[in-house]
This record gives sequence, structure tokens and C-alpha cells, in this order.
Amino acid sequence: MAIRPHPARRGGRLRAAVIAACGLVVGFATAGCGTAASPPPPVARAVAAAITEDGLRARLEELAGATAGSPGYRAVGTAGYDRAADLVAGTLRSAGWTVTEEVSTGPAFADGGSSVLEAGGRTFGASDVRPLVFAPPGAVEGPVVPIDWDPAASDRSGRGCAVTHYGALPARAIVVVRSGDCLRRDQVLAAQQAGAAAFVAVYPVAPAGAVYRPTLLDPASMEIPAAGVSRDAAEALVAAAAAGTEARLVTDGRTWLVRTRSILAELPGSEPGVVVMLGAHLDSVLDGPGIVDDGSGVAALLTLAEALVGTRPRATVRLAFWSGEELGLHGSYRYASSLTDDARRAILVYLNADMIASPNGFAGVYDESRAPIGSRAVHDLLAAAVERAGGTPVGVDLGGGADHRGFADAGIATGGVFSGAGEPVTAAQAAASGATAGRPADPCYHQACDDLANANLPLARILAAALADVTVGLANHPELLRR
Ligand SMILES: [Zn+2]
Repeated sequence: MAIRPHPARRGGRLRAAVIAACGLVVGFATAGCGTAASPPPPVARAVAAAITEDGLRARLEELAGATAGSPGYRAVGTAGYDRAADLVAGTLRSAGWTVTEEVSTGPAFADGGSSVLEAGGRTFGASDVRPLVFAPPGAVEGPVVPIDWDPAASDRSGRGCAVTHYGALPARAIVVVRSGDCLRRDQVLAAQQAGAAAFVAVYPVAPAGAVYRPTLLDPASMEIPAAGVSRDAAEALVAAAAAGTEARLVTDGRTWLVRTRSILAELPGSEPGVVVMLGAHLDSVLDGPGIVDDGSGVAALLTLAEALVGTRPRATVRLAFWSGEELGLHGSYRYASSLTDDARRAILVYLNADMIASPNGFAGVYDESRAPIGSRAVHDLLAAAVERAGGTPVGVDLGGGADHRGFADAGIATGGVFSGAGEPVTAAQAAASGATAGRPADPCYHQACDDLANANLPLARILAAALADVTVGLANHPELLRR
């Protein structure tokens, strides 16, 4: 990474910095500054400076330790998820935050581990063939039909989003489909409506050995077996299609209902009815330890929580550690869509931190074309804060594909930071960060190698500090955004 290096800072200086600067901000406090009865408001730059690489690393190590040895890591429904939720709740409680849990029941998914693909004279097992999340299990033997196969495609330009893209399929067809301009769920629905017997999701230029398995969001409408496969297995399928030979796909996945919980925590402000809210998702995918995705966001929020101890801003600061993001934004969407009118109006802004430590990443700031009023101003504040933290911001449009979605749909101003996922870094992103263009921001995205060694702590420090800076700025001065 060529992110501008930043001198290490010691978290222990925070309290002194807050107190020393207190006189400067007393005009915004509602009572005397630094008295025992009323803690002083936090100081944005002091809190941002208290976000250190060491602090983030410590939180990530605790998170990794909590889920070590857990099959499925921190995926919803695993013991690892519960241990991580206990860890986060305990950490926040001992820092003096008020912690609550949002318990809900929803679908969880497990891979039985015995999926098989036979194609082009080769046999692939569970390390190359993974059922898509919420696809029903099944066994299909039939002709292979690649849809718009392109061995060099790394983008979402594939067909398969509409029923007509599948043409007249032969009986028992196994369709092989690359990413298109729609959700994988929409492709599977279109394929099954077109008469396909099985669906295989392929990523032609994926790193060798990588297998992606996106979520199909809701198990109820899924009728045919569907799997993601490695590049090798994709090539064998295409070869079988060219040779006119049949393939055999057996998938082994299980969907069931589980009780899960998101963790929420609050630091009360001095002014009632105004909340600055931040979120990161606590769950991982089944296939990897989720240290960048989204341990890095979780670590950022926990480090911020610690830096705010002993202060009282005007707005309440609320942190959320969401369950079920990897399954389809389940925890955050359920929360945001069930807010009462008063609770919804109280939330001044929702800031999301999902993947902020990508090894070949960039300092992305949400800049979404369809975000609610106020989000543009949030983008500008975050971009300026990234610069203050030593980074060069680049706008990113996630199309609502992360936990801010439910808040945006509820009309709440949203923003966030993002260092890139599995897609190749663009020339503009590379120019802003020193990342290598054309390579994934995170080659370990949703893979077993998303471990502690994968985390880019200098970049995480910049993005977490920017988030802290803006959180405190808005919590002290909610009038900057108030509609
Ligand atoms: Zn994520």
C-alpha cells in the first residue's frame, strides 16, 4: 500500500487531549466542562487521533480468538457468532456503554460439505463446488448450457438476468452463468422460470481456488439446486458443453430457522431525541474468518466506543453490530424498517463501516446516486475527514448493497467508508491510493484467507479515524445536518 504513512499515536493521550481542549468547545456544552456531574463533550480530532493501528489490531485479534475453531466462523447460526456477540457486548458494557440485543428469528444456511460436480471427465468436490446460500439441495445430470461465457470477463456484463436470456433450454439443463447487472437471486429465478434444472454461478477471472457463493436472500422461492464453482470447475463445465457431454451436479446445503441477535450500544447525549448512529456487521460468511469483512468495521466501532468513554456529546451515539448481513442485510433491514416514527426521526444519520482494511484497497467514501437528502453532506464531511486522517478519498456507489440500505429506504441520511471487495481496483481508485489497478481490492474476499494477515491496518486506521471524526463532529453539532 502506498497510503501515506501516519505516525503511530498512543491511545492513552486521549483523555488529556479531551480535557485540554475542553475550554475551546465549552460553548457547545449544555453545562460546565469537565465537572464530575457532566462529562465534557468529545473533541473530534482527539477522538480521531485515539484510533490507532495497535488498537484496531487488538480488537481484531480478540474477534479472531473468539471464533477460532468454530466451523462456519461467525456465520449466523454458528457457535462462533454467539461468542463474537458476547465478546462485543461485554467489551461495550465494561466500557460503560448501555448495551441491548435485538433478537430475531430468520433463516440460516449450512453447507453439508459433500457437494460434487462431474464435468469434462473431471470430478470436483466441496472445495470447488459450494451451494449458493439458501439454494435447495439437489442432484441433476444433464447437458451444460453456458450463458454468454467469456473467459476474460471480470465485470457484471453477463446475461442471465431475464428469462429470455436462456433461450429454449434442453431438458435437465445445467446453466452456467457469470455475473450480470442484477442480483444472483434474480438470475436463479430467471433460470428456473426458463426451465433450467440447475444453476452454476461462475466468476471467470476469480483467483485460482476461490469459490464465491452469494446469498439468494430468501429461501422460499428457490426451487433448483444452485452452486458457485472455482475457475477450474467452470472451465471443465464449458469444455463439457463444447464437447456435447453431460455433467452431474450434486449440492448439499441446508436452510433452517434460527434465533439470532444484533448488538446495540448507546452513549447518551445531552440533547434528547437526536441520535448519530453507526453500524458494522458482526456475521461472517461461512467460508472465511471475516477479518476484513467485516471484522475491520467491528474493530473501528469498538475502538471509537473506547475513545468516547467519559465524554458526553449533544447527540446520543448509537452503535449497531448487525447479524445476518451476509445472508441479505437481515439484521439491519429488520431494525430500520420497524422503527417507530419518533425513533426514525431521531436518527440524524446512519454511518456504515463494512470492509475498511482491504489489502489492495482504497479510501472509499459512500457517494450513492439514490441516497436520501443529507447524504451528500455526509459524503463531504467524510471525504474531508479522510484527508485529515492522511488518505485520499474516492467516491463509491454500493447501490445500497450494505447495511445502510434499510436506513436509506427509511429516508435517513446515510454514509460510510469502504476499502473495496472482490472486484478489480479501477485506475481512479488506484491513483488515489497506490493500490494496484486491475487486481481485486481484497483477493481474500469471502474466502478462508480473510484472516489477520489479510488486514491492511494503515488503511483501516485512516477510514476508522475519519468515521470517528465525523461521528463526533455531528454528535456535537447536529445542526450541521438537521433537516
Ligand atoms: Zn461485509
